[in-house]
Amino acid sequence: MRARAQELMNVSGRDFDLCVIGGGATGAACALDAQLRGIRTVLFDAGDFAGATSSAATKIIHGGVRYLEEAIKGADIQEYHVLVRALHERVRMLENAPHLTRRLEFLVPSYHWIDVAYLDVGLKIYDWLAGPGRISPSKYLSRDETVKRMPQLNGDGLVGSVAYADGQFDDARYNITLVQTFTEAGGNALNHAKVTDFLRDSNGRLAGVVVSDELTHTTFSVNANALVNATGPVADSIRQLATPSAYKRMRPSKGAHILLPLDIFPTEDALLIPKTEDGRVLFAVPWGGRLLVGTTDEEVTAGTELVVTKEDVEYLLRHLNRYLARPAKPRDIVSGFAGARPLVGSDDAGDTKKLARDDVIEMDPLSGLISIMGGKWTTHRAMAEDTIDVVEKSLGRSRTEGQTRNYALFGGKDFTDDCWKNLTCRHPISGDTARHLASKFGTAAQDILALSSEDPSLSDLIVEGYPAIRAEVVYAIRREMAATIEDVLARRIGLQLYSWRGAIPAAATVGSLMARELNWSTSVTEAAITGYVRKIRHLLDAAGLSQEGSVTAAIQGHTESNEV
Ligand SMILES: Cc1cc2nc3c(=O)[nH]c(=O)nc-3n(C[C@H](O)[C@H](O)[C@H](O)COP(=O)(O)OP(=O)(O)OC[C@H]3O[C@@H](n4cnc5c(N)ncnc54)[C@H](O)[C@@H]3O)c2cc1C
Repeated sequence: MRARAQELMNVSGRDFDLCVIGGGATGAACALDAQLRGIRTVLFDAGDFAGATSSAATKIIHGGVRYLEEAIKGADIQEYHVLVRALHERVRMLENAPHLTRRLEFLVPSYHWIDVAYLDVGLKIYDWLAGPGRISPSKYLSRDETVKRMPQLNGDGLVGSVAYADGQFDDARYNITLVQTFTEAGGNALNHAKVTDFLRDSNGRLAGVVVSDELTHTTFSVNANALVNATGPVADSIRQLATPSAYKRMRPSKGAHILLPLDIFPTEDALLIPKTEDGRVLFAVPWGGRLLVGTTDEEVTAGTELVVTKEDVEYLLRHLNRYLARPAKPRDIVSGFAGARPLVGSDDAGDTKKLARDDVIEMDPLSGLISIMGGKWTTHRAMAEDTIDVVEKSLGRSRTEGQTRNYALFGGKDFTDDCWKNLTCRHPISGDTARHLASKFGTAAQDILALSSEDPSLSDLIVEGYPAIRAEVVYAIRREMAATIEDVLARRIGLQLYSWRGAIPAAATVGSLMARELNWSTSVTEAAITGYVRKIRHLLDAAGLSQEGSVTAAIQGHTESNEV
């Protein structure tokens, strides 16, 4: 990616074949697919790339075992197709970005033999449907094997577990990397750039967009022959901007997650809680040195704020604690996040839990707007391929093959699991920092360390207790279009997810590095730091965790000393 100020000048007033609105997983994947087919593409996001749903996922690459149950019980052919496509796409996601993904085993604990039999059969079907895309075969684990792999699992009455394999990924980094790969292929992308209106030709068909630069509060326009609406849960707002009489199709639902120190439930495998009070499944997954627990499912109504609430905390801990030998407490929570699922409604669906995670491509005959709605992270690539097939048709081009099936994403080519070791040989950094850099940036970690070779102070940690170094901030600004402290801490580096309380002292360091890079005045810098800290305090408040604790202890995850 180019620096943001440069890219703003590059796109303003220019002509493109295609404009993609929305830089989440779906929009970034559409932009990449189109650009690789030779379609000159520009991508805009109103906030940051990955700033909405696409960084709020459970971070699982999956077909979805729950959807399997629904497909079988409901003899639902549509659910079956969604599932099979996702099972096949898992492999594409794992192979195209090995630095951001990994295979992961999920253990489903059972306290009755009948459950073991039921799960075993169901998961064998899951394996069979995956066909050549099978990651590894599901299997029964005895009680002893289960407890060995999950020593803090509640062993009372446990008869064993069934293990099956899916994948896991870093959603925010995967999204940024899709955008990076797109710009490396020659595309143009701008974040904090909100589409506020359309340009139209004499027939009323869309011919471009009016964009508001949300940082400078100026507007500019861009001409485009085709327009894709990939705005996720808010897709209706763009559909109705194009055609005010368009009926609403989206039924977004909120999902919240919390993160706990991993020593509460030390494990390398994921725990699947098979049945919640509202008939869903829940996951507790080791992720980035923490235990990620989620998710809730609640229809978004007017005024729903996408933050973790006290009620979310109670719900998640209540379900998790049934499976833990030592119950987790609210004060153990280090961070959390919430997002809105972009579900597409149907006339007969009652609550959002029953809505299929399928995607829908709609071409508005009046305006020509192409909207891609719904879907899952796991199927983003296939959704984009289908969308760009429609774009080619609308541009009057003959159909070409999508190129993304086996296309290594930025930093993924020639990546090996042990490449972090080379980084420690060549640079004065710890093993933890080397692993962190390799897992976030892949082979591009070299470019970050080149910055710290020029300025050794950039090898310093941003904050004690987390392995990210200052050079990442400079890289995020120069090469990944980070424009706010949150862009850096939440999505480029991941510290905000690791520890809310740890992100507070980091804000000052990040703010001063941003001031230096972007020529911020003292008052702008202070406002940026204060605004970010206020936001984190609001997140703590909303989750009912607002009292102060020791910041260092919080980063390390040992919160027992914090009397919250
Ligand atoms: C709680 C939860 C857990 C999930 N877990 C998983 C999982 O484990 N695995 C999985 O496969 N899937 C999962 N999903 C689903 C997956 O996260 C989503 O399907 C996917 O991220 C949707 O991406 P998107 O690009 O369509 O939407 P978004 O990520 O929301 O992107 C839309 C973008 O459009 C931008 N935008 C909006 N209006 C405008 C405008 N006017 N101008 C410009 N830009 C605009 C927004 O800023 C936003 O960045 C989960 C979803 C949720 C909510």
